[in-house]
Amino acid sequence: RRLGWAVAGLGHFATSYQIPALGRTRYSELKGLVSGNPEKAAEIARRTGVDQGSVYSYETFDQIADNPEIDVVYVITPNSLHRDLVVRAFEAGKHVMVEKPMATTPEDCEAMIAARDAAGKKLMVAYRAHFEPVNLMAATMIREGQLGDLTFMSSDHHRPLDPSTPKDQWRMRRELSGGGSFIDIGIYALNGTIWFMDEVPSALSARTWSPEGDERFAEVEAVCTVQLRFPSGRLATLSSGYIADKKRIDAWGSQAVAVLDPATEYMGNQLRVSTSEGTEDRQSEFGSQEQFTREIDHLSQAIMNDTDVLTPGEMGLRDVRLIQAIYQAAAETGRWIELNADGSVAG
Ligand code: NAD
Repeated sequence: RRLGWAVAGLGHFATSYQIPALGRTRYSELKGLVSGNPEKAAEIARRTGVDQGSVYSYETFDQIADNPEIDVVYVITPNSLHRDLVVRAFEAGKHVMVEKPMATTPEDCEAMIAARDAAGKKLMVAYRAHFEPVNLMAATMIREGQLGDLTFMSSDHHRPLDPSTPKDQWRMRRELSGGGSFIDIGIYALNGTIWFMDEVPSALSARTWSPEGDERFAEVEAVCTVQLRFPSGRLATLSSGYIADKKRIDAWGSQAVAVLDPATEYMGNQLRVSTSEGTEDRQSEFGSQEQFTREIDHLSQAIMNDTDVLTPGEMGLRDVRLIQAIYQAAAETGRWIELNADGSVAG
């Protein structure tokens, strides 16, 4: 059996990656589209075999409640617009996948979780690294102690922001993006570090920087650096940027160091493990591009079997709280902010 998915927001990521992935999944299929652009939606519907009657605008979206072919709505719009569509999808009786970051404020995440609970449906945040083969290999190696004791982590996520592309225009506007490089791609460094360390930080400090006079960074930061301290006492450093181009995760064990470089690209991620003896590439049986289909089918299977999702709304909320604390720390120039176990600021 396959569940029917509707994609809301037909931008770059949806049309280049997730709509094609929905054509390769085992338990999911594209059955609906939601868009502000009727011509684009009609063209994609024709190309993908979606019924023209299952194409909605943001105004007619609530009528999706009457469409029994659609089980799941996948929201892929600019960050601050996630909440409205997610809440309306739950009100229409659908399950939801929402892109990262889950929202731009903890309040929006909480409203989405409340709507999920009222509807009795499932909510998954699209953290694709949790379904990416070499990230999974690294997580297993760490969990099984193959690196020895994990003593420290560092992760750096950078890519150039290109104001000539529509997808990067809303990212320059704080109202839509919620911030700059950190909320957009630093979130991979944060989420991956918590996953591998297997604990939530108890304190952090942060700084941001933007080159003077660069119009791209009038409202959002170019570069962000973060220091994390965990309840165990271990430390991690994160960085994000909108100028250089590199995404890596380094896990520093007492016996070996695992380096994912690139760590979170759409394709071709690589894991290298170094010891005093030398450095070795670790290969996985399936390629990085399978992260998309595995992520989508994970939610479909969780719905069919009524099991928990690996990346639930609570994880999205935790990360948005931590990102808010990071921006607060940066605005206060490096003061340590004490945190509760759920990522909210203490006191
Ligand atoms: P995009 O600009 O290409 O797509 C956004 C879509 O939303 C467009 O079709 C746009 O028309 C539509 N939209 C609706 N209302 C809008 C408004 N008021 N202003 C601007 N656009 C509006 O952006 P994208 O890169 O596809 O990102 C969309 C979402 O997906 C974001 O939340 C982003 O963080 C996430 N994303 C995730 C990944 C990943 O690897 N998981 C990769 C890229 C983007």
